[in-house]
Amino acid sequence: MVKETGFYDMLGVRPNASADELKKAYRKLALKYHPDKNPTEGEKFKQISQAYEVLSDPQKREVYDRGGEKAIKEGGAGGGGGGVFGSPMDIFDMFFGGGGRMHRERRGKNVVHQLSVSLEDLYNGATRKLAVQKNVICDRCQGELRPGEFTPEKGGGRKGVVEPCPSCRGSGMQVRLQQLGPGLVQQVSCICSGCQGQGISQRDRCKGCAGRKVTRHKSILEVHIDKGMRDGQKIVFHGEGDQEPGLEPGDIIIVLDQKAHPVYTREGQDLIMNMKVQLVEALCGFQKPLLTLDNRTLLITSHPGELIRPGDRKCVLNEGMPTYRRPFEKGRLIILFSVLFPRENFLPLPRLKELENFFPRAVESDDSDSMEDDLYIYADLEDFDPARERDRRRFYDLEDEDYRAGGGVQCHTS
Ligand SMILES: [Zn+2]
Ligand SMILES: [Zn+2]
Repeated sequence: MVKETGFYDMLGVRPNASADELKKAYRKLALKYHPDKNPTEGEKFKQISQAYEVLSDPQKREVYDRGGEKAIKEGGAGGGGGGVFGSPMDIFDMFFGGGGRMHRERRGKNVVHQLSVSLEDLYNGATRKLAVQKNVICDRCQGELRPGEFTPEKGGGRKGVVEPCPSCRGSGMQVRLQQLGPGLVQQVSCICSGCQGQGISQRDRCKGCAGRKVTRHKSILEVHIDKGMRDGQKIVFHGEGDQEPGLEPGDIIIVLDQKAHPVYTREGQDLIMNMKVQLVEALCGFQKPLLTLDNRTLLITSHPGELIRPGDRKCVLNEGMPTYRRPFEKGRLIILFSVLFPRENFLPLPRLKELENFFPRAVESDDSDSMEDDLYIYADLEDFDPARERDRRRFYDLEDEDYRAGGGVQCHTS
């Protein structure tokens, strides 16, 4: 038993969630609440990362399960410097990162998109077009202008004389005095409100980007979903992320999100499905058509003489998911059987007797013949209702107590 479930609740999983379930839950929530998409949900984004940071680490998860959030905060987790938790952005970048970036500060931001795909898409492969918005260096000023660099050649502003912003004289910053208490004044520097830190007067701003150095640009990405790709797999478009002057552009990272399928679930390379068969089919064989994910029809066959028992698992080889990058190798199709029984009294009694003759006799205890008929206690079977069981026990307890109160023989069974 875990002490508290707050972190699990935050990710919307049960306390016994597997590592994969945790990853999937984090992936969905982190993308949903990322400040890029949901600027007002910063606190939620932080909480999701903290919950995931703890639960994704087996050691920290154990500490949390035993002692709750308090135990994590009291240490033992050894976060190393700073606070107990890492920065939500670092955790996000680590999770979605385009891989092995050593010089993170020299690159623009990665842009992560989730792409909803069907199991059919992952089976057959697919190409999807995705419209994305990103920052592109302004082509009129080349994003060259930085506060303080007012050379006419360098674009940025209009050709010719570029005038610095009158409020900050081109520095982009303003210094304000803040009264902290009587006789105590602090200098605070902040971004100039006259030019938003661009350092140039409004009339000199580049008309292409209004002095922002970048423009929003819509582009269409063609995403190739290869056969056998899996839920959560990333497709990285290197250098297609936001551009920023002086930085290498970041990546666009597409994360596949598989929608649930009405028939099949996937486990690794295997496809799993439930199949209901009638009792007569289970006993005498059947043929059932089954539509595959690429629209072929398999005729699932149980030959006469073969038996299907309730809960049986059977499989069809090479009808599972294709292997990523080796699409001709496929997993198994695993079928989980349940057997439907006919309703009560489906046969008139005399026919039932006839039917009985076809089946092996029930195993009888050896001494049943020797027992006198009046030694049996006839026990009818009732429908089992788990909710009623408790009532009955209470009734017995009560009866037991009445008995003791009456001064009867006490008999302990524990
Ligand atoms: Zn200014
Ligand atoms: Zn510009």
